[in-house]
Amino acid sequence: MTLCCLNGVIGPLDEARISPMDRGFLFGDGVYEVLAHVDGVTRARQLHQARLAQSLARIQLESAISIDAIFADVDRLLAASALTSAKIYLQVTRGAASERDHRFPAQITPTIFVMATAWSPTVLGPQAMIIAPDIRWQWNAIKSTSLLANVLIQQQASEAGAVDALLHRDGWLTEASTSNAFVFQDGALLTPPLSDRLLPGITRHLVLELARKHGLTVLETEIAIDQLPQADLVMITSSTRGLVPITRLLPDQTIGRGEVPAVFETLQADYQRVLHAHP
Ligand code: PMP
Repeated sequence: MTLCCLNGVIGPLDEARISPMDRGFLFGDGVYEVLAHVDGVTRARQLHQARLAQSLARIQLESAISIDAIFADVDRLLAASALTSAKIYLQVTRGAASERDHRFPAQITPTIFVMATAWSPTVLGPQAMIIAPDIRWQWNAIKSTSLLANVLIQQQASEAGAVDALLHRDGWLTEASTSNAFVFQDGALLTPPLSDRLLPGITRHLVLELARKHGLTVLETEIAIDQLPQADLVMITSSTRGLVPITRLLPDQTIGRGEVPAVFETLQADYQRVLHAHP
């Protein structure tokens, strides 16, 4: 039985209930995090806590929330579920109000939901992606629960047989619909710079740290979407997928020679090591 923690109360996931007046349900007025818990360790926990704090601040909900209390819920839920490896989903919304009104309610009681599902990390081999216009809103650095555009893009990718879509605004790569994007090119690692056009991925952060430690040339720079086939490799990253090599662009393009260079394998192996050590 999968358990969850809703507003501090642990119980079966399929018995948890929220109000239909919850602003998360009505407006997508909330933020979330997804964490990997592997062999008893919640990976990069402090980085996720810091990003959650940032998301809450951007939507002016930080004063109603204790991040420590949410992570105490995470720990209690993991203990109650007896899961040593799990995918943790946590969501904070601006709670329910008596009326459907776009403006913030005078009194805010946030809804705090944590779910832990049995999961174990898998290492994905070379994958294919599609390219799609980035139709999302303008504040993508906020990990918002308003994910309709991401849902539509991911569905389109899936129907095309792709793992995800590489997104672009006006021909410039932003990220993918559920991960950050990188390019290996002539011994350098390139990724678009942080801005409101993309999520500041935790995995992105760790990978850049590692690559610099390895002496790789790291460039946070704009990348033209039509240059991708000329790259040696494209890579996408996320907390649950890790580092994924992309060698094909559907329907019919190959990236570089369609092979995974040794530098990717090294980075991926190091990433696994770092995660075990990261607080
Ligand atoms: N970008 C988007 C749009 C995402 O949904 C995710 C996954 N949460 C990421 C990037 C990767 O972020 P992280 O490495 O923190 O999982």
